[in-house]
Amino acid sequence: MIQTKGYAAQDAQTDLAPWHFERRDVGPHDVLIDILFCGVCHTDLHQIRNDWYPGIFPMVPGHEIVGRVVQVGAHVKKFKAGDLTGVGVIVDSCRHCDNCKDGLEQFCLKTATNTYNAIGRDGLTTYGGYSNNIVVNEDYVLHVSEKLSPAAVAPLLCAGITTYSPLRYWKIGKGHKLAVLGLGGLGHMAVKFGVAFGAEVTVLSTSESKRKDAAALGAHHFVVTSDKEQVTAVTASFDFIIDTVSAKHDLALYLSLLKTNGTHICVGAPSEPYEVPAFSLLAGRKSVAGSGAGGLPETQEMLDFCAAHNIVSDIELIAIKDVQAAFDRMVKGDVRYRFVIDMSTL
Ligand code: NAP
Ligand code: ZN
Repeated sequence: MIQTKGYAAQDAQTDLAPWHFERRDVGPHDVLIDILFCGVCHTDLHQIRNDWYPGIFPMVPGHEIVGRVVQVGAHVKKFKAGDLTGVGVIVDSCRHCDNCKDGLEQFCLKTATNTYNAIGRDGLTTYGGYSNNIVVNEDYVLHVSEKLSPAAVAPLLCAGITTYSPLRYWKIGKGHKLAVLGLGGLGHMAVKFGVAFGAEVTVLSTSESKRKDAAALGAHHFVVTSDKEQVTAVTASFDFIIDTVSAKHDLALYLSLLKTNGTHICVGAPSEPYEVPAFSLLAGRKSVAGSGAGGLPETQEMLDFCAAHNIVSDIELIAIKDVQAAFDRMVKGDVRYRFVIDMSTL
């Protein structure tokens, strides 16, 4: 077994703290990656707090991983030692179901293996990227361009693909008015991709203090959702809303901001169910939809698109000892716009 150090939550009530654990040896199709950077996703906080379902503890979170290959198994074809790589939200899937065959491994009908807080197909618990190394089957590892800052690429592995994928699926671009609800890790990537695809982008935010940043990210308009006048002014004006909010909020209000036939796309994952009054859907033939991460081929496409268009996340690089303070700021919406852990501080 491979000796690994990381930060783990021992249960849903305690903060992350240093922890030593073991990973499987490098199998014939595995790569061993020395982790350089790992993004801090709001999902990490949901998971260590059991917001969604009871977790597997001790839990090492982290699924926005960038690192260098240090060892490859005998049959590995796609990677060699020294390659810069990424690992996102899944590390395995069944490979045989219709979704896996279609490159939608994240929706594997036999359940994809999450990068952490899961039992892998080898029977071992998976541990995430708040750690110094990881062993992953080569088919679930992505190529990362040397052209971009590896720290700023890390959030692309979750925040990036989770917003890129729905924008591509609904073909959002030129001629569309897109609203991005919540300007955090996912939200700021949705703005960047929406702008890159040619949409007219409005940020809907609770934080007036993010107005300037939204413009710097390329957004064309900014609406503070607590200001009734500003909200009324955008009634029935958007083709799509991409909703990245992590806590309970009023969908009926946002559905009223969609044009006829508009679509509200949920990518945020509050722990409580949404309430959707029938009439907010009927009047105007509106849809509420959802999207989860992205499959391996689309994640590689997104990374290549970012390398070609010089798109990365806006990050605040932190030492791992400060991760709890980063969580506290994230809960307050004080994220500008993704915390990334420098793993050399572990
Ligand atoms: P984040 O960085 O904390 O951003 C969330 C933003 O939502 C905040 O910055 C804030 O923006 C806004 N917000 C927070 N609480 C709010 C409230 N009570 N009412 C209205 N707005 C609020 O989080 P993230 O990492 O982007 O993740 C967002 C959500 O997506 C989480 O639930 C996460 O688990 C989920 N997620 C889903 C997927 C998927 O596959 N679908 C993948 C990754 C993450 P303003 O200050 O602008 O209001
Ligand atoms: Zn995530």
